[in-house]
Amino acid sequence: MSKEKIIKILTKNNVKPTLHRIGVMEVLTTLHTHPTADEIFKNVKINYPTISLATVYNTLDILYRNDIIKTMKHNNEPTRYDFFHEPHFHLFDNETFEIYDFKDDELRDLISNHLKDKKIDNHSIKDFDLEIKVSTGNDFFYEETFKLKK
Ligand SMILES: [Zn+2]
Repeated sequence: MSKEKIIKILTKNNVKPTLHRIGVMEVLTTLHTHPTADEIFKNVKINYPTISLATVYNTLDILYRNDIIKTMKHNNEPTRYDFFHEPHFHLFDNETFEIYDFKDDELRDLISNHLKDKKIDNHSIKDFDLEIKVSTGNDFFYEETFKLKK
């Protein structure tokens, strides 16, 4: 993604586009592996050698709080980060711990319509995440997270 587009996204979400924030966003919009903070740090240092790990963590926190990125956490694994470009689900491989994007608009509409039918008092559904955990064995289960907004 171009620097101009990144600056536009940051500004639109009320985040001041500092050099290091742009650097972190460049990595997040390029890497589609749902990287950890350490992996982001390693990659952003290539073009921004003066950036510190603390700055990367602070930047990720700001980006998360402003709904620009999503986070994922599994058991004792480090938190992973994902640039929120378009709605998608995640397939989490229980054996390799890799996360794959899984786009299925039909499934999204199905869940979305179902949730709309189930009216939750004083709340509206802003967004939902669906994470499907897969393994080569027989244990197949899924996990859902619903973000509720008053
Ligand atoms: Zn993703």
